[in-house]
Amino acid sequence: MNSADGGHLARIVAEVHARLAVVTDGEVADYIPALALMPPDLFGIAVATMQGEVIEAGDTRRPFTIQSVSKPFAYAVALEVLGRERVRQAVGVQPMAEAFNALVLEPRRNRPYNAMVNAGAIAVAGLLRQHFGPAAFDELTARLSDAAGRPLAVDQAVYESEAATGHRNRALAHLLHAAGIFTVPADEAADLYFRQCSLSVTARDVAMMGATLAHIGANPRTGQAVFGLDAVRDTLSVMFSCGLYDGAGEWICRVGVPAKSGVGGGLVAVVNRLLGIGVFSPRVDGAGNPVRGLLACEHLSEDLGLHLFESSNPGSRLLPLLAR
Ligand code: GLN
Repeated sequence: MNSADGGHLARIVAEVHARLAVVTDGEVADYIPALALMPPDLFGIAVATMQGEVIEAGDTRRPFTIQSVSKPFAYAVALEVLGRERVRQAVGVQPMAEAFNALVLEPRRNRPYNAMVNAGAIAVAGLLRQHFGPAAFDELTARLSDAAGRPLAVDQAVYESEAATGHRNRALAHLLHAAGIFTVPADEAADLYFRQCSLSVTARDVAMMGATLAHIGANPRTGQAVFGLDAVRDTLSVMFSCGLYDGAGEWICRVGVPAKSGVGGGLVAVVNRLLGIGVFSPRVDGAGNPVRGLLACEHLSEDLGLHLFESSNPGSRLLPLLAR
C-alpha cells in the first residue's frame, strides 16, 4: 500500500472516530475498583493492515488493561500446546445466552459453554497452568507479546484490585475444579486468569494482535509465526459466534466479523486476511461491551464492506483502497 492509499483509509478511520466522539452512552466498569479510575472520554481506533502498517485516530497509545480481549489469544495458545481434542473436552464452542460471568456449565457435558466467557477462560487458564506449571504466566505473556509485537506487562494495581475482589471468578475456578476440568488448585487457575486480564495494552497493540489472527497467525509487522493455522481457525470461529456474549447474534448481523470485547474498554475485531481492528473506549454497556467500540466496528464494517457475508466480497469497499 502506498501512502496515498493509506491516507484514504486513514481519512475513513478519522471520520468514524470524529462521528462517534460525541457518544457518551455506557459507564466505566467499576466492579473491579481500579478500573473505575479510567477517564471515561478516552477513545482510540487503530487499524493494522497485512503489510504491518497501523492507521490510527485518537487515544491509540493510552494503556488500559486487556481484560477479556485476552481470552481468544489464551484460547489459541491452549489449542496450540494441548491440541483441539484435549481443549474441546474441557471447553465447548457453543454460545451462552447468559452474562459473561455466569456460574453456568453445559448441562450433561459439565464444561463451560465456550472460551470467550469467564468460565471457559478460567478453564483455559487452569489447563495452561497445568501444562506449563509456574511458568504459565510467562509463557502466555510471551505469546501475547509476540502477537502485539512488543513486550507486554501487568498493570499491578488492576491485578491487585481484581485479585482482592474477584470472588465470583474464584467460585467459577472451584466449580471447574470440582467438575474435573483441571487438577491444579482452583486459586492457581484464577490467579493466572487475573494476571492475564491485567496485561496492559494500547489500541495499537490490540489492532496488531487482531492482525496477527487475520494474517493466519503471523505478526504482519515482525513476520513472526505466533499461532498455527488450526488454532487460528478455531479461535476465530468461537470469536465469531461467542465473542460478544449475549449480544453475539446482533453483532454478527450488524458487523459480521469475529471480535472480542473487554470491560477495560478494549475491543478487537478481525477481518480475515485483511485487517486487525483495535478500539479503546472505557464506557461499557450492560453486557460489558464498550459502547463506542461496538459502534466503531459497525461503522467501519459498513463504510469498508467488511461483513463476512457482504454480497460482493468481504472488504469490497476496502480492497480498492489497499490495491490502488
Ligand atoms: N477480568 C474481568 C472479569 O473476569 C474480565 C471480564 C471482561 O472483560 N468481560 O470480570
